[in-house]
Amino acid sequence: MQLSCNNGEAKLIDHSAEHTLRQAGMRITDSSLQLMQIFLGADEVLLSHGDLYLRLKEHSVDINRVTLYRILEKFLSAKLLHRVIDEQRIARYGLFVNAERDGGRFVCTHCHRHLTLTRIPGETTDLLKRVTADCTAHGRRYEQIAIIVWGICEKCAPTQ
Ligand SMILES: [Zn+2]
Repeated sequence: MQLSCNNGEAKLIDHSAEHTLRQAGMRITDSSLQLMQIFLGADEVLLSHGDLYLRLKEHSVDINRVTLYRILEKFLSAKLLHRVIDEQRIARYGLFVNAERDGGRFVCTHCHRHLTLTRIPGETTDLLKRVTADCTAHGRRYEQIAIIVWGICEKCAPTQ
């Protein structure tokens, strides 16, 4: 397996992947480290099992599909990831997103890329406070709030 690269940037990401796993009390394996590193370094917010399998292979990680599912399940239980079933009924995995902390995501209905929305403080924060207050007022314990916008991304939008 090829875990570390020679440039400092890759090592830095690797370190944060290890830190993330340790904080969650996960056992560190080559596959789990590489997987977390892929999530931390990805441009897309959500990735399917197939995407992840291909990327692990690109990183020369020797893993089979069942093992990948097993690690994903462990990450889900540890609240490191969350799973979204998209409109094509494909399960996609992303780092556990908390709208209060991380903002939201933009889903392109054309190319199906999932992109990060820049956090908009102020009014968004006020809205989230009202939403969470409404949950607690009803005695509901919320675990995750996500903001998802569906539309056409800048790459798919027709040029002027
Ligand atoms: Zn698009």
